[in-house]
Amino acid sequence: MLVRKFGGSSMGSIESLRDVIKIVKAFRSDQVVVVSAMSGITNTLLEATDAAIAGKRRKVKEIILNLLNCHIEIVEKMMKSEKVKKETINYFEKVLNTLSGFLKAIEELGELSIKSRNTIMAVGERLSARMLAGLLEDCGHPAEQLDLEKAVNPKFKKADHDFYIATEKIFAQKVKKVLAKKKTPVVTGYFGWVPGGMLDSVGRGYSDYCAALIAAGAKAESLEIWTDVSGILTADPRKIPNTQILDEISSEAAAELAHFGAKVIHPQSIHPAIRAGVPVWIKNTFRPQDRGTAILHEIKNPKHVIASITSKKSVTSVSIASFRMLLQYGFLAKIFNVFAKYEISIDVVSTSEVSVSVTIEDDSKLKEIIKELKPVAKITVHPKKAIVCLVGSGIYKRKGVAGEIFTALGKADISIDQISQGASEINITLIVDEKDADKAVAVLHKKFFEKGKK
Ligand code: ADP
Ligand code: ASP
Ligand code: MG
Repeated sequence: MLVRKFGGSSMGSIESLRDVIKIVKAFRSDQVVVVSAMSGITNTLLEATDAAIAGKRRKVKEIILNLLNCHIEIVEKMMKSEKVKKETINYFEKVLNTLSGFLKAIEELGELSIKSRNTIMAVGERLSARMLAGLLEDCGHPAEQLDLEKAVNPKFKKADHDFYIATEKIFAQKVKKVLAKKKTPVVTGYFGWVPGGMLDSVGRGYSDYCAALIAAGAKAESLEIWTDVSGILTADPRKIPNTQILDEISSEAAAELAHFGAKVIHPQSIHPAIRAGVPVWIKNTFRPQDRGTAILHEIKNPKHVIASITSKKSVTSVSIASFRMLLQYGFLAKIFNVFAKYEISIDVVSTSEVSVSVTIEDDSKLKEIIKELKPVAKITVHPKKAIVCLVGSGIYKRKGVAGEIFTALGKADISIDQISQGASEINITLIVDEKDADKAVAVLHKKFFEKGKK
């Protein structure tokens, strides 16, 4: 059995939906289809929520009408069967009516719980899954929408390992029930209720994670993430012109890339699948003939020491210099405990004999953190920084990589604030000024992947 996830970019238009249908119909054996909302719809739903809180009733109404129209337009133009068309449109109207009532209540209260925000976000995937199931039925491929919005066992209080293992099992049972009816389940990539809320516990791009949980729970043959590029590339093709497709990448390197800004997959999405021994493929909906990239637990003979380069902006770097760093035990522990106390995660750490620098994305608790650290250290905050991350395999076995990076960036007049090497030999991270981040990626891409090109 295959689990195949189609992202917002694949679900966004009549043309792309035709491609999705072709891909699904061409596979003759069991498959589970997981879908994201149509592109842009999750953002629109979050906008509607903000508008409701701000009491902008007209804007909320306008958004709901647009949501209805853009889904109906696709169904009207693509479906032949009047019966399926009517049932699908009725469903859209029902879901959007409920959403409208929900947003009205939020408007009256002027506040929003995490649970309510989740119910609203789920609408995007509920509509798209029903739409694709209807489109498949309409062209003779038996399919059924599988709504996971309320599928999760609510007894869990924390979104921890046990929660996800239990969730995988529930999802596997649900898809198998639909498959037993000889139908293709078209699953909402939104699933809930996730303790802590979907945005904080899983984050955007959650349908990748949903697909990985299903693939792990159902012990699928493979998990395919269908998107608008032919695999994982040497850099983001929207920023760098001469990128190359990677045939394969290790799961660790792929997770690192995703974490540091390569949006092509959700950073955690690969873990459940890889843990269950399910290979993950990144494939292009618009060029299904392309091989794609395989994400594997381990790469035996890596072709490149550096596989890909990414960057993440809007980062704050905090330098913490101890008043008495020398021979002072427990200084680092004290620092990390303070960040942990305020639930602020640290991305990159570098230390010298007298100071430690950390980068954070969320600086909302920085004042409190500085207040606690002030008695033991001098703190300097550097906002508007970026992380540039190079990932690969056995980076440190190749001598002089750091030197090559320094030379290339030095020649381009880009200064490096910090450099840090992970213990697992798969990445090197640099901190540079945010304004230099795109140029740094371009320079390093040229250095490591465009040899001989001017
Ligand atoms: P979907 O809507 O299918 O979920 P996303 O927009 O989430 O698609 O992810 C695909 C996008 O990820 C690509 O269009 C590409 O611009 C971006 N991307 C960033 N870094 C990389 C990379 N290293 N390799 C491939 N794509 C990347
Ligand atoms: N539609 C959701 C988002 O935009 C989930 C996803 O695309 O995976 O984040
Ligand atoms: Mg995505």
